[in-house]
Amino acid sequence: MGEKTLTTPCCIVGGGPAGLMLGYLLARSGVAVTVLEKHRDFLRDFRGDTIHPSTLTIMHHLGLLEGLLALGHQKVTTLRGELQGKTVTMADFSRLPGRCQYMMLMPQWNFLNFLAEQAATLPGFTLLRATRGVSLRQHQGRIIGVNAEDDAGSLAITSPLVIGTDGRRSMVRTAAGLQFENFGAPRDVVWMKLSKEAGDARWASGHGGPKNNFIMLDRGEYWQCGYSIVKGSFPALQQQGLAALLQQVAAVAPVDIERLRRQITDWQQVKLLDIRIDRLTRWAAPGVLCIGDAAHAMSPIGGVGVNLAIQDAGSPLPIYWQHRWHAAWSACVSSIAYSVAASSPPGPPKGCKL
Ligand SMILES: Cc1cc2nc3c(=O)[nH]c(=O)nc-3n(C[C@H](O)[C@H](O)[C@H](O)COP(=O)(O)OP(=O)(O)OC[C@H]3O[C@@H](n4cnc5c(N)ncnc54)[C@H](O)[C@@H]3O)c2cc1C
Repeated sequence: MGEKTLTTPCCIVGGGPAGLMLGYLLARSGVAVTVLEKHRDFLRDFRGDTIHPSTLTIMHHLGLLEGLLALGHQKVTTLRGELQGKTVTMADFSRLPGRCQYMMLMPQWNFLNFLAEQAATLPGFTLLRATRGVSLRQHQGRIIGVNAEDDAGSLAITSPLVIGTDGRRSMVRTAAGLQFENFGAPRDVVWMKLSKEAGDARWASGHGGPKNNFIMLDRGEYWQCGYSIVKGSFPALQQQGLAALLQQVAAVAPVDIERLRRQITDWQQVKLLDIRIDRLTRWAAPGVLCIGDAAHAMSPIGGVGVNLAIQDAGSPLPIYWQHRWHAAWSACVSSIAYSVAASSPPGPPKGCKL
């Protein structure tokens, strides 16, 4: 069977928050766009669940807030944590201006499904699931498309603009030769789920932490727990054995060791998330741009990565203006910018030099 081909005005690699929001914005403005997502669905754990007021305000401007609020979520007005035995308020959203004075907690797959559904109603939006971008296509020093793979084989995509929204291990940024600064990270996080049990407290209404490096997120039927460890120490923890890890967790978690032993019986239930913090020195090269974690991998601290990814989706718009392939494209981009920020288009992301 021969290689399939596809031509699209814009090819976005990665259907996370940045890719889906940018795909939605472009399609809404009449630009045909193809988003590649290597997974078949968005049902993956351990991705940010926090939707901050800034993102909710953007959703409001786009007319999407009511639909989003209709989905199951929790509202958090303040974030508190226990530091050195004292409870401190780390964030108080109630004092913010704008439409929503709270942070929303929602499993990220629900948020992504919602964005994908909204985008799918727009002509020109195509989401290719189970399609992995494998390499970039280049011609005379310019990126002209993506080589991808799906269940049926290989797919050669031709596009004048490729956008890398493929996260922290971005193929696009590597293949484009974009350089990054690595800022290092002192911690990693191990994640595990605990089933809810009768009599569980409402630990801080959805966000119980951080308390001595331990957080609990209320996922409705279960608790998503994160335990922060020293960077690179996971292999040593594994050598010490699961029982030793559970002892450490029990020392800082509001659940007893018996429950941990009953529910966490296998290393398969304990996942390591290595934390990276880095930033591209240039976000773009001819024919290609990276945004979201592909441009700046985020620490989970503050839970802002999803929100910066969403803001990035609007931020490159002035850069598209500079490219201005033709008048219609320019008009489309203009309308996108003004739909996100009613009075003036956002500035280009810091560090973005074209
Ligand atoms: C432990 C941890 C906890 C975090 N907690 C929070 C939090 O609570 N709140 C918060 O806001 N942020 C959190 N973050 C950060 C947040 O997850 C990211 O900043 C955010 O998801 C970035 O969005 P993105 O769209 O740029 O990339 P991603 O969310 O990484 O999405 C990239 C998408 O691209 C797809 N993809 C990758 N490669 C390819 C390819 N070659 N071809 C096709 N598709 C591809 C992936 O499957 C994925 O769907 C956390 C990060 C870590 C490490």
